[in-house]
Amino acid sequence: MLDIDMIYDYPLYRPPSEAYSLIIQITLGCSHNKCTFCKMYKDKKFTIKSMEQIKAEVDFFRTRVKYIDKIFLADGDALIIPTPKLLEILDYINEKFPENERISLYASPKSILLKTPEELEEIRKRGVKLIYIGLESGDDEVLQEIQKGVTSEKILEGALKAKKAGFKISVTVIAGILGKKDSTNHALKTAEIVNKMIPDYLSILCLVVHEGTEIDKRKKSGEFKEASGEEILKEIKMIIENIDIPQGEKIIFRSNHASNYLGLKGDFPEDKEKFISEINFAIKNDYIRERNERYLRY
Ligand code: SF4
Repeated sequence: MLDIDMIYDYPLYRPPSEAYSLIIQITLGCSHNKCTFCKMYKDKKFTIKSMEQIKAEVDFFRTRVKYIDKIFLADGDALIIPTPKLLEILDYINEKFPENERISLYASPKSILLKTPEELEEIRKRGVKLIYIGLESGDDEVLQEIQKGVTSEKILEGALKAKKAGFKISVTVIAGILGKKDSTNHALKTAEIVNKMIPDYLSILCLVVHEGTEIDKRKKSGEFKEASGEEILKEIKMIIENIDIPQGEKIIFRSNHASNYLGLKGDFPEDKEKFISEINFAIKNDYIRERNERYLRY
């Protein structure tokens, strides 16, 4: 008989906004798994669970979860599943959880670009409404350095294709990714891609150097020097200053993750000046919060 620890292969990650979602882990790990800053799935071999196992797990949750309105499909790149199988999984989830209103997942640009517009449309029709995409940076030199395995143009192309198919997209950017090195190009080019993409949601996280990652090795060897909270806030300010989207468009912006040195929350374009003032105030008054490094280790 299944129990919860047999179902979940830990560590189990989900975006902060999926805190109240039912997580169904239909894949294990990440199909790329090479980013130098990422420790999420280092110990997992990328695997797509069998249909039989997924159905048994969905049945298990149905017997225990009375009501759910959001479901998140883990782990790192559930959209990479071949479309016929993914559609069968979605049909089964919809049959068992008819009350559910939204399914979301992480997707790599590659997995979006591999699907035809018709396939994306079928997936969306089955309730996948939100796709989380890691942009990290709009600067190809940075993407190459962090071994993202994709260019900013491809990320943009994937994101626009997903938007065109009717998905909402939530995009993350990482501040501090270059440490103490000049981050001007990272900031300017990231804002440039955001302006072209106009994601529904945008989050700027701050780099956390996790034990065992490539960046951690470089830090220990002295090759990588972490940026200070103030330097990172200046970098975020430069990204924000250069985000410029037409009136009538909207980006819901959050930079209030545990990794951030200052919590920012609002919408582009109307709150842009407020974000800049808040950052200026924080820098001027040394109001830069301490991060809970213990929490960030996980
Ligand atoms: S950041 Fe995303 S794409 Fe890169 S290794 Fe981690 S999970 Fe995979």
